[in-house]
Amino acid sequence: MKKRISILGATGSIGRSALDIISRFNDLFEVVLLSAFSNQNKLEELKNQYPDASCLLVEESGKDKLLEAIKNANADITINGISGAAGLEPSLAAIESGSNLALANKETIVMAGKLVFQKALEKNVKIIPVDSEHSAVFHLLNGFSNNNEQSTDETISEIILTASGGPFKNYSLEEMRYVTVEDALNHPSWNMGKKITIDSASMANKGLEIIEACIFFNFHPDKIKVVIHPQSIVHSMIRLCNGNLYAQLSKPDMRHPIHDALFYPQIFPSALDQLNFDSLTLDFSKPDTEKFPMLSLALEVIKLKNLYPCAYNAANEIAVSAFCEKKIGFLDIPKITEHVLEADWSIDCLNLETILKADKDARENAISFINRK
Ligand code: NAD
Ligand code: MG
Repeated sequence: MKKRISILGATGSIGRSALDIISRFNDLFEVVLLSAFSNQNKLEELKNQYPDASCLLVEESGKDKLLEAIKNANADITINGISGAAGLEPSLAAIESGSNLALANKETIVMAGKLVFQKALEKNVKIIPVDSEHSAVFHLLNGFSNNNEQSTDETISEIILTASGGPFKNYSLEEMRYVTVEDALNHPSWNMGKKITIDSASMANKGLEIIEACIFFNFHPDKIKVVIHPQSIVHSMIRLCNGNLYAQLSKPDMRHPIHDALFYPQIFPSALDQLNFDSLTLDFSKPDTEKFPMLSLALEVIKLKNLYPCAYNAANEIAVSAFCEKKIGFLDIPKITEHVLEADWSIDCLNLETILKADKDARENAISFINRK
């Protein structure tokens, strides 16, 4: 029987990569739901390619219709490629429907990881990370836990997330002050949506990923490290307590982790380009947290827990929009986030309404700070 697949954010970068993989295995997968926010022409095109799938334009139908469609899709796997906080409720709807979740939307975990994993446990559904670093760690950890009676906490001493460093890794702070939206959108190794590309330039993306890794793998923040690796070939590593390091390598192409998520727990042959060693150079260096304060802020918020990660994400989303609208400079992004984090976000976070309220409050706080400047 074919696996039924829902693709949320089908017109985006992740959505397109997912459809590319699925189109290679038409005998194994059936697309049952395609959703997008506003790109009607593109969604119409997809509707012609997948006439049996339900198609939903959120700008027209509204969020509630999307949540209903996700629940009614009866999918085996829901791929969540929605950008930003808007991805949280769709993730919960997929879990509620009993569908496994192939999760690219890291905001789901950053905002509400505890709640999401609790619901997944209740519904007995699997959450498989699609974010390349977390996919790497997930599959590496799986490899070790299979034949091992020791606990992960005992055997794994570090998770090492790689980061490309973005387009400004060699800029001075002074040079970063004057960068434009176009400069920030010029990512050296990945081709992604606009928001995550700006986040890669400020390293807020790695900040979100530190939080995502702590919650996803239930690791103490002190055990998560970040290393700059500009080629984006090593997607992440784990270090065992005996000092051995294990890494996952492939070309920087999101179709790899999407393929792995769709076939999980099977390891299935892929027709994607394989990495070869003919002209391979791998560089590693230490991140500069002074130049990229979004990294150190992320480490602080994950230690503070509760709704701090949610506020970090909301403040950053507002700051990135304001930067894209040329209302603020690039270095204002961490300043706005830091300001919002000065408020008290230490409320328990196992309740969706409370989480959504914190998200809204943090946004309002960021907007009023920007307007005052
Ligand atoms: P994108 O901007 O290219 O696409 C976003 C998709 O979500 C579009 O189809 C859009 O129509 C839809 N969408 C936007 N707002 C929505 C809303 N309010 N309701 C419903 N749908 C909405 O983004 P992307 O780069 O594909 O990233 C998607 C997610 O995957 C993000 O969370 C990002 O951090 C994560 N991610 C992306 C990559 C990548 O390579 N692009 C890698 C790792 C993780
Ligand atoms: Mg990533």
